[in-house]
Amino acid sequence: MSQEITGRTRLGCLLGTPVTHSLSPMMYNESFRLLGMDRVYLCFDTEHADLGAIVRSLRQIDVFGFNLTMPDKERILPFLDEIDPAAQMIGAVNTVKNEDGALIGYNTDGIGYMRSVREAGCAPSSCEMTLLGAGGAAASIAVHAALDGIPALHIVNRRGRSWEKALRLAETINQKTGCHADVTDMADAEAVHSCIAKSRLLTNATSIGMAPNEDATPIADPSWLHPELLVSDIIYNPRRTRLLREAEAQGCRCLNGLSMLLYQGAAAFHIWTGQDMPVEEVRRKYFQ
Ligand code: NAP
Repeated sequence: MSQEITGRTRLGCLLGTPVTHSLSPMMYNESFRLLGMDRVYLCFDTEHADLGAIVRSLRQIDVFGFNLTMPDKERILPFLDEIDPAAQMIGAVNTVKNEDGALIGYNTDGIGYMRSVREAGCAPSSCEMTLLGAGGAAASIAVHAALDGIPALHIVNRRGRSWEKALRLAETINQKTGCHADVTDMADAEAVHSCIAKSRLLTNATSIGMAPNEDATPIADPSWLHPELLVSDIIYNPRRTRLLREAEAQGCRCLNGLSMLLYQGAAAFHIWTGQDMPVEEVRRKYFQ
């Protein structure tokens, strides 16, 4: 960062744990520099911290806003003054804007994801979707996919920690949007195959295949991956997961998680500043 910090520089930050690997400081500080904005963005590890006390301090020093990563995306909810309706449906917030002292929560993960799939040529209104996972990122993707006009959404999860959450998520989507959502057990191979066969968009929002477990894949049989599918893995480490390698071999179009990461940041940047983030410059420098 070569921009001078002045007496007027305003602070934004990332809270959560771990945060040291985050690309967000580079992404936002480069954007502030390119746009000549007198702002700075830092990371704070909250592992041993009292989140309520931190938020009270951030209010008092008048930060422009902040991001949350795990596990603070849900822990933040009671400390906010207002929560955007989509973030309420998701039950988690990753972006907070300080609007004249009022802290307003948003969730931009799904916004970024839907921008990345539209850019890859998938028109939501004509894309039946199979979504693997029902954790934090999957919930945001599911809600924003439904709000963006995906007609049918098949949520696939194991009968584990997130199973009940998957059922509640589908119920919320069915009640509040025009999308029809259902839930399938990942262990039921025939049912999963049937969901994928009907879909034009397959999204892996589980952590299966993420480094260091790069030999793992959420799909039992690669022949289920038909050439009409856009196969998208929100994992970005590694850039090409086993799922994406097998999808390519089946003739599918593929998308990794880097553009979602960039565009969820661009959506937060717009919420804070009202300006478009210079995504191409940031992509070239940090997201290759
Ligand atoms: P999370 O809340 O912990 O959710 C993980 C999901 O994966 C849950 O549905 C979990 O099921 C499922 N899962 C994990 N291991 C599994 C296994 N062995 N078999 C079957 N299901 C399994 O995590 P998250 O925050 O949503 O993140 C998920 C992935 O997305 C991570 O790889 C993360 O790096 C990536 N991500 C990318 C972006 C981006 O911008 N590209 C943003 C956020 C996250 P149970 O809970 O039922 O165990």
